[in-house]
Amino acid sequence: MKVYIDGKFYDEAKAKISVFDHGLLYGDGVFEGIRAYHGRVFKLKEHIDRLYYSAKAILLTIPLTPEEMTRAVVATCKKNGIRDGYIRLVVTRGIGTLGLNPNRCKRGSVIIIAGKIQLYPPELYENGMEIVTVPTTRNLHSAVNPAIKSLNYLNNILAKIEANTAGVEEAIMLNAEGYVAECTGDNLFVVKAGQLHTPPLYAGALYGITRGVVMELAAAEGVKVSETNLTRYDVFNADECFLTGTGAEIIPVVKVDGRVVGTGKPGPLTRTLVAKYHALTQTSGEPIR
Ligand code: PMP
Repeated sequence: MKVYIDGKFYDEAKAKISVFDHGLLYGDGVFEGIRAYHGRVFKLKEHIDRLYYSAKAILLTIPLTPEEMTRAVVATCKKNGIRDGYIRLVVTRGIGTLGLNPNRCKRGSVIIIAGKIQLYPPELYENGMEIVTVPTTRNLHSAVNPAIKSLNYLNNILAKIEANTAGVEEAIMLNAEGYVAECTGDNLFVVKAGQLHTPPLYAGALYGITRGVVMELAAAEGVKVSETNLTRYDVFNADECFLTGTGAEIIPVVKVDGRVVGTGKPGPLTRTLVAKYHALTQTSGEPIR
């Protein structure tokens, strides 16, 4: 594997950054997880846009233009012969001193890794997964805004540990008001009486790119989609539930906090959306050439 760091490609074993990089010392930086399917990078523009929005929110100057970044992502896929894979794009604050001050970091660093991902076991896609609600809540907008895809994912990691401790792979995170925000690395949807509902972004969800695609696919199927505050009660009593994310794609949920959701099997609208999503991933995206 060849890893891109600041304009050069390095062998995996030689791909290293400084111990003084504030990305390491303070989690000071932003990132994206992107997929390639069938020789194309899926929704690359949307991921690049979100990266620059995250960077703007933390006053981080990315040392490449969005166009240069787009070319660097495609070039990294090409260099690694990736046709189907997962791309991790990271921008750190760069090398600084042993103090918080980000102004001591003269230049951000860009890292691009193109590899593979398998988030959940295949049987969970077939039969649906069980999730729980965990005690760790989503960050407040007035703290590190959850819309920022920052390198400081400890909040989500704590929730993931709580999920794993409960014997499941993913967990619902509530916001400070007790409404469903999202999961540790995925957005959440429920189906009720033929309509699709997902928490609004102000509930503390990430602006999920898969979320956006699924909302468009559902609307194109004539399904009414609403962004509305959800409580755990709404999830327990939904007809169907599923999660979305670049890595996870669309994964059905059949049990939440011990309550069976719907029939206890992946529902019909979930299955339709999975099929439409897969079809779209095979036919659109930025060509790798
Ligand atoms: N929420 C969180 C907290 C995430 O980290 C992610 C990305 N893994 C998502 C939702 C899903 O977003 P996307 O569809 O853009 O990958």
